[in-house]
Amino acid sequence: MKLLLLGFYLLVTTARFALDWLNLHHRQRAEKTLPAAFAGQIDSERLEKSDAYALAGDKLGLVEDLLGVLLTLLFLFTGLFPWYDRLVAGMAEGFILNGLLFFGLLTLAQLLIGVPFSLYRNFVLEARFGFNRMSFKLWLLDTLKSLLVGGILFALLAGGSLWLVAAAPQSWWLWVWGFWAGMSLFLLYLSPVLIEPLFFKFSPLAKPELEDGVRELLSKAGVQAGKVLQVDASKRSGHSNAYFTGIGKVKRVVLFDTLLEQLEDNELLAVLAHELGHWRCGHLRNQLIKSQIVALASCWLAFYLLNSGWLPGLLGLSQLSFAAQVLLLSWLASLLGFFWTPVSSWWSRRQERQADQFAIDLVGSGKQLASGLVKLARENLSNLFPHPLYVAIYYSHPALVARVLWLEQGKKTGGSKK
Ligand SMILES: [Zn+2]
Repeated sequence: MKLLLLGFYLLVTTARFALDWLNLHHRQRAEKTLPAAFAGQIDSERLEKSDAYALAGDKLGLVEDLLGVLLTLLFLFTGLFPWYDRLVAGMAEGFILNGLLFFGLLTLAQLLIGVPFSLYRNFVLEARFGFNRMSFKLWLLDTLKSLLVGGILFALLAGGSLWLVAAAPQSWWLWVWGFWAGMSLFLLYLSPVLIEPLFFKFSPLAKPELEDGVRELLSKAGVQAGKVLQVDASKRSGHSNAYFTGIGKVKRVVLFDTLLEQLEDNELLAVLAHELGHWRCGHLRNQLIKSQIVALASCWLAFYLLNSGWLPGLLGLSQLSFAAQVLLLSWLASLLGFFWTPVSSWWSRRQERQADQFAIDLVGSGKQLASGLVKLARENLSNLFPHPLYVAIYYSHPALVARVLWLEQGKKTGGSKK
């Protein structure tokens, strides 16, 4: 059984690396010709620079990924895993404390391994291409703050779950699910006021000439509640983006201040219209409902498998602690998740297209969004030549060249749809 599992892991890993290689190869061999919409924005020099940027990112990703595979093999498939389990069991008494230690120490080790990569990414790679704007002090402060916030959330979520498991051995799957569902809803409301301000400063759009356009767009889109804010992303990085978040009364669209610098007003409004599209199509709400259904099913399945006593045998072991079995199970789930990736990516691309269509209907044309996206690709040195299979499996947004062409030809759907 252990060999079978090892084989399966290596198979998935090989598939992942093969996809990376395919994508890299495709970019290097692609005929770098772009449609007319890109003319004057992205020249051959830009393309060369974005190639170099993508290659540098690929290389770093490969090293990080290889290290991860090596550590996983070492941890799970040698005697290290049961040894660690016994070590933690000897460190503290009690089910909850044991579980917290088991996961806490592993997470801490993972974070420590990630530190050099984070430093290299920000201060070497991103700096070389002119993106990094972070001082070492800010990086350190960010890291410490996320450690603190992450630690508190971890203690709360893991501690609470373990307590529920101990308190209701026959029905914990339902309780744990309810606890997580409640917490994620709670955080959705709380994070914008409690956690995000620890790292970023949000403020109303500092472009008074935009105000009328924004207000008009909001009322045309039929969005009353909610805010349009800008965030001081430029303190950390030159990359630009926009996103929407929240449900109910805490809905908001956030535009990076870098985006405000880079785009014309009509392009900004088109980006905003796209984000409003996500609101009006209820994308976050649907996402929440779907993930809660999946979570409920996963909780029950985990309960069933943990009770069956079947898990330690997967690694040829006779016994493992509850925490160790949960870890093994979540590792299996992430492995199987690879096969789910194309489905969720497809779903996400479908939603992006809906939001694009909403923007076309609202603004009257896709041209402004298209030219805005081209500028973003130029400023962010985006890869314009991904492999179609790579796009199908991993891309949450349609590939840019196809998306721009689609937007340029976009037609209003007649306003009957929202
Ligand atoms: Zn979107």
